Amino acid sequence: MSTIATSLEAFEKSQAGAHCSTGLATDPWRFDRIPTYGPGASETDELPDQAPRQSALPGEYRNASDEELKARIIAAKRTLGERLLILGHFYQRDEVVRHADFVGDSFQLARATLDRPEAEAIVFCGVHFMAETADILSDQRQTVSLPNLGAGCSMADMADLASVEACWEALSQLWGDARDASGRAPVIPVTYMNSSAALKAFCGRHGGIVCTSSNAAKVLDWAFSQGQRVLFFPDQHLGRNTAKAMGIGLDQMPLWDPNRPLGGNQRDALERARVILWHGYCSVHKRFTVEQIASARRHFPDVRVIVHPECPMAVVDAADEAGSTDYIKKAIEAAPPGATFAIGTEINLVQRLAREHPEHTIFCLDPVVCPCSTMYRIHPAYLAWILDGLVEGEVRNRIRVDAATSRDARVALERMLAAQP
Ligand code: SF4
Repeated sequence: MSTIATSLEAFEKSQAGAHCSTGLATDPWRFDRIPTYGPGASETDELPDQAPRQSALPGEYRNASDEELKARIIAAKRTLGERLLILGHFYQRDEVVRHADFVGDSFQLARATLDRPEAEAIVFCGVHFMAETADILSDQRQTVSLPNLGAGCSMADMADLASVEACWEALSQLWGDARDASGRAPVIPVTYMNSSAALKAFCGRHGGIVCTSSNAAKVLDWAFSQGQRVLFFPDQHLGRNTAKAMGIGLDQMPLWDPNRPLGGNQRDALERARVILWHGYCSVHKRFTVEQIASARRHFPDVRVIVHPECPMAVVDAADEAGSTDYIKKAIEAAPPGATFAIGTEINLVQRLAREHPEHTIFCLDPVVCPCSTMYRIHPAYLAWILDGLVEGEVRNRIRVDAATSRDARVALERMLAAQP
């Protein structure tokens, strides 16, 4: 066995004991009927009552073999031609990604929606908030479908409009709405792309903006040019990691727990605040630990550790670099052959990068195969079902954002699109 293979085996053994349920892979249909996110990292997160549920998939799709599904998808794509645009997020499984016309992170996919106005039907292989964003940005004549309505995002679901409005009201009582001498508002709301259309619209209505993990620092710069403070939701880690890198102290970043008065803060802590962080997180990225990084370094002294900024601050601090999925991909592409990378992001992307770059050693910091369970709900069977519907003239699982929400959300999204990463 080569030295690298021996070190990888030793690294994986050092993480023994952790596990992730394989139920979603073995019986994906069952989870359409169970009111949870399904097995995986987000298993213990709370699914909101209003989260969409997927209806039962017809037996001809559930019982089809992988080869039959692949053939159906290819045939439908051929029939639909330029009228169809399939978008795939980096975290989607390979059996789905191979059919996508464009694969990217949420920022790139938002842009891709604008680049193909001739496509009548957009099929979004990602999660619910991404399909909503595609509907907001696309032409009215275009339809957007999400192959499985149960493909939500546990982080996005950690902030809802009513709780954010209650927080906004409490902050307004503290600081009013008067602008300072430079014309800056008391607070600017910034929502991560991973949020509902209703929250993007909230930002549009209140002078705020949307950010992604690839442009968060630029967006915060913009927000501070418009306001004295920022309310950042739903991901506390992206907000904290980005603000800290900009030199903002931890004592200026109180955490807002929507279930407690004043978010669980003393008034003087809020008076010092520059960024108020919502109490949300990604269950997939929360799995990465400083111990995993230490172990990777022990087994591979030259390893380059890159983690996603949705990871906790201690993990980002212990890594060599932090960046969006696109940043990670580009860093690997630019490295001279023979490099070793330990990556802290979703397993489907890491495994794909490892296959595409045999010239490097690439492994996931968390060797337990634990995908984003909601991304994983986009099984090829759902994709085949959606495409067959389009061939028959039926738009299935259409995601529609109402006109008023769409108008306000578009304001915040267009501000984001202007803030290039
Ligand atoms: S990886 Fe995390 S943030 Fe991304 S869709 Fe899954 S749960 Fe949401």
